[in-house]
Amino acid sequence: MNNEFELIIGWLYPTLMSTYGDRGNVICIERRCQWRGYGVKVLPLDQNATVSDIGGVDLIVGGGAQDRQQEIVMRDLQGAKAEALREKIENGTPGVFTCGAPQLLGRYYEPGIGERIEGLGLLDMVSVHPGENARRCIGNLVVEVTASRLARDLAEMTGSKAFLIGFENHGGRTKLGKVEALGRVVYGLGNNGEDGGEGAFYQNAIATYSHGPLLPKNPFVADWLIQTALRLKYQQSITLSPLDDRLAMQAREAMFKRLKVNLPNVAAANVQ
Ligand code: GLN
Repeated sequence: MNNEFELIIGWLYPTLMSTYGDRGNVICIERRCQWRGYGVKVLPLDQNATVSDIGGVDLIVGGGAQDRQQEIVMRDLQGAKAEALREKIENGTPGVFTCGAPQLLGRYYEPGIGERIEGLGLLDMVSVHPGENARRCIGNLVVEVTASRLARDLAEMTGSKAFLIGFENHGGRTKLGKVEALGRVVYGLGNNGEDGGEGAFYQNAIATYSHGPLLPKNPFVADWLIQTALRLKYQQSITLSPLDDRLAMQAREAMFKRLKVNLPNVAAANVQ
C-alpha cells in the first residue's frame, strides 16, 4: 500500500446529477487510485453538505441532470456553498464537470421550459435550451483537446496528441465568452453544433458535454486529474505508475473505427 497519499473526491449532488452513466467517472477515479494503493474517499456534495465539506475535497466530479433536477441544484448551490466551490476551483482543485454541471458553473442556463437560472458565473459561458421542439444533441463525440495547458500535459503523459471519445446528450447550446474551449469537435456536435468548440477548460476544471464513460474511455484524463490533485495536495512532483489500459485502448480504437474517424497514430495514441 502506498497510503501515505489519500484523495477525497467530492461528488456534486449524486442523486440529482448523474445521468447517462456519469457515476462511471467517479468509479474510474476511485479504482485508479485504489489500484495504485492510494487511499480514496467519495464525499457526496449535496443539499446536506457543509461549506467545510466542500473546502476539504481534493477533486470534484459533477454530472448531468434533467432540467428539473438541474434547477433544484442551481437553487441549492447559492451563498456560502457556491462561494466555497468557486474558491476551490479558482485555487486549482481539479474537476470534471459534465453537461448540466458546466451549465451551472457558467453564467446562466435557460431551460426549454421555464425561467433562466443563474449559475455560479465561474466559467464565462452561457447555455440556452432552444425549446422543447428543438432537436437534442445526441450521439458519439470525438474531440481533439486544444486547451493549451491540458493538451500539453496530456501529450507529456501519453506521448501523443490527446483525442477524447465520449457520448453527448443535451438540449442546451453553450456559447463561450472568454473561457478557453476544452477542444475541437472531430465527430459530433459539442457546445452548440455550430462553432466546432467543445467544453471549456478553466484553472484545472474540465467542462464537457461528454457523459460518464468519459474517464473509463479516456483513462489518461482520469490520471491527469489524480496527478494534478496529488501534486496540489502534497506539493510534490508525483508521477503516477502506469496501469494496464489495453482494454480501454482497444475500445477506443474500435470506436474510432466504427465512427470512421481517422486519426493520426490512433493505435498508438494515448497508450502509456
Ligand atoms: N438539462 C441540460 C440540457 O439538456 C443538461 C442535460 C444533461 O445533463 N444531460 O442541456
